[in-house]
Amino acid sequence: MNKQTIRDISWEGKRALVRVDFNVPLDANGHITDDTRIRAALPTIRYLLEHGASVVLMSHLGRPKKKVVESMRLRPVAERLFELLPEATEVHKTEVCSGPAAEAAAGSLKPSQVLLLENTRFDPREEDNDLAMAQELAKLGDVYVNDAFGSAHRAHASTEGVARYLPAVAGFLMEAELNALYGALEKPQPPFVTIIGGAKISDKIGVIENLLNRVDALLIGGGMANTFLLAQGYKLGDSLVEQGSVATAHDLIGKARASGIKFMLPSDVVIADAFSADAQRQVVSVDAIPDGWRVLDIGPATGEAYSAEVKGAKTVIWNGPMGVFEMEPFAVGTRAIAQAMAAASDAGAMTIIGGGDSVAAVEQADLSEKMSHISTGGGASLELLEGRELPGVVALNDK
Ligand code: ADP
Ligand code: MG
Repeated sequence: MNKQTIRDISWEGKRALVRVDFNVPLDANGHITDDTRIRAALPTIRYLLEHGASVVLMSHLGRPKKKVVESMRLRPVAERLFELLPEATEVHKTEVCSGPAAEAAAGSLKPSQVLLLENTRFDPREEDNDLAMAQELAKLGDVYVNDAFGSAHRAHASTEGVARYLPAVAGFLMEAELNALYGALEKPQPPFVTIIGGAKISDKIGVIENLLNRVDALLIGGGMANTFLLAQGYKLGDSLVEQGSVATAHDLIGKARASGIKFMLPSDVVIADAFSADAQRQVVSVDAIPDGWRVLDIGPATGEAYSAEVKGAKTVIWNGPMGVFEMEPFAVGTRAIAQAMAAASDAGAMTIIGGGDSVAAVEQADLSEKMSHISTGGGASLELLEGRELPGVVALNDK
């Protein structure tokens, strides 16, 4: 990675202004249901504290739409952080994210103390990347650290603007994400196999186009495979298809053929007579989908063929489930891919998972530990895989 990191700064007596991604899920009572994102930021926070810095943290939570929303305050996050970080002598929390009150709180911080600012999106200027807000934020620290990979595709005041006014470096989570994803994209060990699935082809056209010239094999599954199959003339019954993307799918198949890579579509599928876990179901070849039925998973032959590709790979990126994995009867194809990736990892391959639902599927299969890298940023990882530059990354100081 050609960006500076927190290792490039001498922190003694400095105040670190750290953008983290504490956008955690909360239940109706405001309790955190999954603190993975808080835990993911701990290595960076610990490093800064151990090296004599004080730490000012900022994050968004939810979509408050440019105003204060009581249920989206970061209070529960501050409480959890304090539990997870016994080495911090104090964890303070402000009621605002910038301005005089935040400045006063940041100014009185001592080394080994932590301050958590209020939800940055309560300030209407955040999402406009307002430079006056960015300058106010910059007053809260000596050095800016971006560890919020999940927000790096957004040019907001706390992710991009502020980096114009302070030395700006990557935290460990950001570094790990960039090393894994750019490493795979730019110098993959061959064979490089990618599996793309999920609901819609329209979400991932850019990813497929960018990968066509880089991978050895591209395996397509999930709802999006339906539109490719339609473009090849198959009948899809009541399956989810995107009529508006048939021409694009046709075009992508042509490009894949021309580029000489292995481009695989399902040969068999699991179909159901309703979108429901207890629907009637059967396995059919893709040329035998009856009217009134819908494709909800890849079939066993496809699962085996895809698994064989994955197991033979040295670099694998997977984005998007192979079926409606939320319903157990249609989780089989997705699980087969997760297991093949785990086997590839065991055999020394670099295995990377991106995308919120794909990550959930791997966790459901209890195989997260096996993967080389699980991306914490769904949207950000997709944009990176599309070959787009992430504003929050571009803004960091070069090595
Ligand atoms: P990710 O979050 O990993 O990027 P997506 O959000 O693109 O993945 O897609 C995940 C969704 O796709 C899941 O909710 C899953 O149920 C749905 N899906 C997968 N296969 C099908 C299918 N054949 N028909 C309808 N929906 C599907
Ligand atoms: Mg998703």
